[in-house]
Amino acid sequence: MKKNTIRILGNRLLKKYNLKDWNIDFNNNKEYYGACNYQRKTIYISIYDIDKLSDTHIQDTILHEISHTLSGEYTGHRLKWIINCYRLGVKEKWIYLLNEFIELIIAVHNQ
Ligand SMILES: [Zn+2]
Repeated sequence: MKKNTIRILGNRLLKKYNLKDWNIDFNNNKEYYGACNYQRKTIYISIYDIDKLSDTHIQDTILHEISHTLSGEYTGHRLKWIINCYRLGVKEKWIYLLNEFIELIIAVHNQ
């Protein structure tokens, strides 16, 4: 996906989730696909390995970061962020696994 397409997609998703004062920008980070800067109200997408990523992975990265913006600073990957990921439909595999785990706990609890 080209930078301009990512920016259009990102802006569309920001608007959808009422984050109109947030922006999409790019960096060259080798460790993270995405980052969220609360001071600058900017979601950064790394272009370092961007050609290797599928469109779905790029969209998932944007949604992962949007979940951070909705959850608030310093919340990390804790429950609030996970719940927002569910709502946003983030497709990262471990979230599905965690969802199954939570459903199992609820099922056992309700027995
Ligand atoms: Zn994260």
